[in-house]
Amino acid sequence: MADFDADVGVVGLGAWGSATLWRLAHRGVDVLGFERFEPGHAFGSSHGGSRMFRLSCYEHRGLVALAKLSLDLWRALETAAGVPLLDLCGGLLIGAPEGRMIRETLANARDFDLDVERLDATELKRRFPQHEGVAAGHVGVWEPSAGLLRPEAAVRAAVAVSTRLGARVCRDTRVVRIEPVSGGVVLHTPTRTFRVRRTVLAVGPWCSTFVPRLPLRIIRKPITWFAPEGTPGEFSVDRFPMFKRECGEGRVLWGCGAYDGGDVKLGLEAKGRVPPEIDPEILDRSTSAADWEELGRVVSQAVPGVRPVPTRVSVCMGTHTPDNQFALGPVGGDRRLIVATGESSQGFKHATGIGEFLAQTAVGEAPSLALPFTDPDRFLTEQKI
Ligand SMILES: Cc1cc2nc3c(=O)[nH]c(=O)nc-3n(C[C@H](O)[C@H](O)[C@H](O)COP(=O)(O)OP(=O)(O)OC[C@H]3O[C@@H](n4cnc5c(N)ncnc54)[C@H](O)[C@@H]3O)c2cc1C
Repeated sequence: MADFDADVGVVGLGAWGSATLWRLAHRGVDVLGFERFEPGHAFGSSHGGSRMFRLSCYEHRGLVALAKLSLDLWRALETAAGVPLLDLCGGLLIGAPEGRMIRETLANARDFDLDVERLDATELKRRFPQHEGVAAGHVGVWEPSAGLLRPEAAVRAAVAVSTRLGARVCRDTRVVRIEPVSGGVVLHTPTRTFRVRRTVLAVGPWCSTFVPRLPLRIIRKPITWFAPEGTPGEFSVDRFPMFKRECGEGRVLWGCGAYDGGDVKLGLEAKGRVPPEIDPEILDRSTSAADWEELGRVVSQAVPGVRPVPTRVSVCMGTHTPDNQFALGPVGGDRRLIVATGESSQGFKHATGIGEFLAQTAVGEAPSLALPFTDPDRFLTEQKI
């Protein structure tokens, strides 16, 4: 150890970095974590009160095993931290049976023996009457083992448990440069430098600062909450569970009922429309009607029981790769720099499993899961750190 401050440095303690820190500390690895803000903050991608959890992961078949591993580790983290982080209160998908979302969900359920229930239009209407105007021919898929995670609490829990296990954490400490040296890297902060053998770079939307050749698209993502009208309790999360719903013209409405005392959370993905890229250092966090105009129009037709003007808006960042899959692993095969980015709006549920994968990669253990579709080198022809 003589010349090194730690075996592994984890830069960025959002969802993925905090989970990696925990899995390394759990193994007794000498690990140092760096976070430019306070863990659990609202300036990156891991805030907003809730994140959806699903096992059936239509986004890629290879993610089902990762979600299963993550579920076990979420439970382990809850036990270690003594706080509830994941409620398996069920989840609903609504869409065209031949569309990717429904088709791949049902295929995964069949192939991986997941508990899901297909709902025809009549049953959908009976069980979830808050959803109005479902397109003719669309069906529902109910997944009882889906649910909601508490993102801020999860990040804080992972950092707290890691610290208890011996990890050292530098809060409010920005790593400004990563310098490769013999046998490791030097992490430069404004006040001092730290030599580590390996680094896990889990800075999410800020990754391009360090690895500019990864083709990441950073977008501004407002999160919006709406007040229910009408019968009290109609929009509690047990009656209006988390959902994703195809709404025509490539739009997907997503959200969940009132959770942890909040209002109803709703958002819109507009497939095919490419939002402008942003620079995370100069993100505009002010909000205006332009942030919810289209969403409000969709909500007034699809979920008319809520007032279509938000009660609260918070700005988040999304980090997308060209194939909307993660980028996890060493860059150019050099384990001194292991990147973890490209969350592609689906990475929170997998954070603990990703943390385990990255910890195994950092210490040279055989990973419990093969995730070849997340190899960052798929985007790089030649990359040196
Ligand atoms: C609006 C929205 C909704 C989503 N919904 C879901 C969902 O329902 N289900 C789901 O599974 N996923 C969802 N996701 C995706 C999920 O939130 C992300 O996968 C996850 O939060 C990614 O975490 P991260 O650790 O990569 O990034 P971040 O949380 O942004 O963490 C990066 C960290 O690095 C720190 N950092 C940056 N630069 C430095 C530096 N130089 N030095 C030190 N620290 C630094 C930052 O401060 C930050 O804490 C959603 C994403 C968005 C944006």
